[in-house]
Amino acid sequence: MRAATAAYGMFGLALSALLAVVPLLVSGYYLALGISVLSYTVLATSWALFSGPTRYISLATAAFFGIGAYTAAILGEKLPWPLVLAVAALIGIAVALVVGLSTLRLSGIYFVIFTFGLTELVRQLVTWYEVNIHGSVGRYIFVDVTQPVIYWYLLALAALVFLAGWLIGRSRLGLALRVIGDDEGVAGHCGIDITRAKLTVFSLSAVFMTVTGAIMAPRWTYIDPAISFNAFTSFQTLIMALFGGATRLFGPLLGVVPLVVLFELLGAHFPNYFSILLGVVFMVIVYLLPQGVAGLFTRGPPRLRTVGIGARLAERIGRVFDRPQASPPPVAAADGEAVPEILATRGLRKAFGGLVAVDNLELSVRKGEILGLIGPNGSGKTTVLNLISGAYRADAGEIRFRGQRIEALKPHRIAQLGVARTFQLVRVLGSMTCVENVIAGLAFRSPAVWGGRAEQMARALVDRVGLGARAGMPADELTYVDQKRLELARALAMQPELLLLDEWLAGLNPAELNDGIALVRSLRNDGLSIVVVEHVMDAIRSLCDRCVVMNAGCKIAQGPPAVVLADREVVRAYLGDADA
Ligand code: ADP
Ligand code: MG
Repeated sequence: MRAATAAYGMFGLALSALLAVVPLLVSGYYLALGISVLSYTVLATSWALFSGPTRYISLATAAFFGIGAYTAAILGEKLPWPLVLAVAALIGIAVALVVGLSTLRLSGIYFVIFTFGLTELVRQLVTWYEVNIHGSVGRYIFVDVTQPVIYWYLLALAALVFLAGWLIGRSRLGLALRVIGDDEGVAGHCGIDITRAKLTVFSLSAVFMTVTGAIMAPRWTYIDPAISFNAFTSFQTLIMALFGGATRLFGPLLGVVPLVVLFELLGAHFPNYFSILLGVVFMVIVYLLPQGVAGLFTRGPPRLRTVGIGARLAERIGRVFDRPQASPPPVAAADGEAVPEILATRGLRKAFGGLVAVDNLELSVRKGEILGLIGPNGSGKTTVLNLISGAYRADAGEIRFRGQRIEALKPHRIAQLGVARTFQLVRVLGSMTCVENVIAGLAFRSPAVWGGRAEQMARALVDRVGLGARAGMPADELTYVDQKRLELARALAMQPELLLLDEWLAGLNPAELNDGIALVRSLRNDGLSIVVVEHVMDAIRSLCDRCVVMNAGCKIAQGPPAVVLADREVVRAYLGDADA
């Protein structure tokens, strides 16, 4: 591992040194081509830093590039050149934070449209400023920066992008982005601060784009908003990154080199066909190269790297930005109670439109017990688990976990306090292996585990749920039952005190059911408190210490399983009035 890292480093240095002498050897057309390749390398690689793993397709590249170019145009004559670039970087971060905070909650097509609109918005704002405040639409750029200097700045910036990408790929932040890309909901329940992770990398990528724009500005002697905020910049960046392969660090580069040359030739000889070509390349990506050129040389998604120099360095950098969590208060039994309550809800309510899914619910879970939450379909059981784990926000009522109010907390905070869950419709991280899925549960809990220890613990957990033989298999290739096992292993990796299992035993055959029951029981023996939502009566009878029965959002009975299941009202709720 160390040798490989050293070899990478040496290769990187040698390549940079080789590329650095290019301006001494060539000039004019070929130097301009080199500058184009480098600038798109930075744009496409930094685009892929964020959009590759998260699958949030951003069309904001032109906005950031343009902001950089304009900063250089305005400040170029007033400040020393390196300072101009620093100011551009700061403005890039500021805009990225504002944009990120307001848009990163959008998903899918809405995010794409907004980022596209952003370029237009910024262009309009700058135009307004130039016309009304500055007094003319365009600006002449008089900055004494030569072509070779532009080239060297871009080369250094490219080296920085690759270094940043290399570190992120080995960091918990990088893993967080991939988990978000696979399933954003699961990411929250794994303890990932989704907003923070997305915002960090979106801003970092925006800084690279902005600085690229600033470095490139002196190549124009005249700029106006239409030149610097050109939507084509966004499309070309995206197409190059996807054509090369956005999930690998060096993927975008494989798209940039051929496409810059191709676009250059076509732009020179057939300028009218440029848009058509862009469309053709896009169709090639969609139909022939979904994983990009990089996908031709590699199989499957990139594997997680938790050990080695890069991982250790990334972890050290990450710790600087980590906010230490306050340790949770100890749970104590109330006066007259033998066993302390670990979870209690009061007046809990959640409605969807007119439908009250959970109505004034009072629930308590004691430390070390298995509580069965049962009731007919649609009675609100899953909604209760969603409220406890923070997936939904309650309309009213309170939830206390270990005495602490949690109903207003985000899922990742609740997860870090010690509540883990599985999903009724199984949700594994499909592009990751079993071990990687479980590492996702280890890496963001409190205290977090990373590096070799995370690998070891993940393997042990994968073994414990009986998946040892499939440890390295991508989760979406597992059978349904194995995916359920994996989901449990990921939840256990969180080292929870309270585990929420939503119909985890459903769909198992009799032998698997017995194994499953034994496994859940062994978890209680380890001291876990567990809420099981279940329909399998045998499982309820043999597992649960107590049951709470729900019907139409309300609690209609509670007590030991044998008593509750014989209750007339419970039988009526399950079977309907006619059978009671
Ligand atoms: P259970 O798990 O007991 O089968 P649920 O909690 O899934 O029941 O659902 C309770 C009721 O709330 C159902 O009528 C269901 O259709 C409704 N419901 C649950 N989630 C949502 C949602 N996200 N949006 C709208 N209605 C929902
Ligand atoms: Mg349900």
